[in-house]
Amino acid sequence: MDKIMKPSETPKCYCCEQIATTKDHVPAQCFFPEEKHLPSGCPDYRNNLITVPSCSEHNNPRSRDDEYAAVVIAINSKSDLALTMLKSKWVRALLRREGSLGKKIFSTARGAKAISRKNGIVIPYETLAVSYQIERIECVIESIARALYYRESGYQKKWVDSCIIKSLKFFNRDMGYAQDDCTLNQIEQAFIHGEKYQGLELVRKGSNPDVFYYQFFKSDDRNFIIRTVFYSDFTFLAFLKSGETTLNFVF
Ligand SMILES: [Zn+2]
Repeated sequence: MDKIMKPSETPKCYCCEQIATTKDHVPAQCFFPEEKHLPSGCPDYRNNLITVPSCSEHNNPRSRDDEYAAVVIAINSKSDLALTMLKSKWVRALLRREGSLGKKIFSTARGAKAISRKNGIVIPYETLAVSYQIERIECVIESIARALYYRESGYQKKWVDSCIIKSLKFFNRDMGYAQDDCTLNQIEQAFIHGEKYQGLELVRKGSNPDVFYYQFFKSDDRNFIIRTVFYSDFTFLAFLKSGETTLNFVF
């Protein structure tokens, strides 16, 4: 069994080589509902949030991107908590900042033809497509994944190699499912079913799993997968891979 590494005395910033003087929240606090946005009697979802050491320069540098990602994820989640966040917080924020966040998201809405597959049968249907700035969201998730890797290493190691972000929730631009969906689905299932097996150490981490949790999977010393789950149903898989680019993770 791995020995648990203790944080060094004065950890460095999760983004750069400066000595950390502050802590940054991972993911950003805007993902977590405040008390005022919730009906009375709800738990405190901002209790004991995950933080990483940070210099002042890198503390919360992407707040606009974080907000954008938080809104898009809340819109696309089916959980009650995400809907509450949307109604009590984000709709107001979207209206208040007219011309900014709201316009950016909804101005792209258009009618679209999509297909779904059921029992091998392709079913076309009409829908409303909103184009999101996926790269922007992936950037936020990549930053979270790198920060979580740093946390997992006891603030000893930063991931400097490639980090590929995948989500099963978003369509491709052509409204078809991505070709690697099948593989992603299998990995997703491996995480869900693998939780039962202690040897895999896929324990959920995060004090407020209704809002966010992650699982850290070490394939070998050079390959890791971090599964991040927002609002219980919105999953991203972050593939941290050294060397060659093919996906050949072994559970
Ligand atoms: Zn820094």
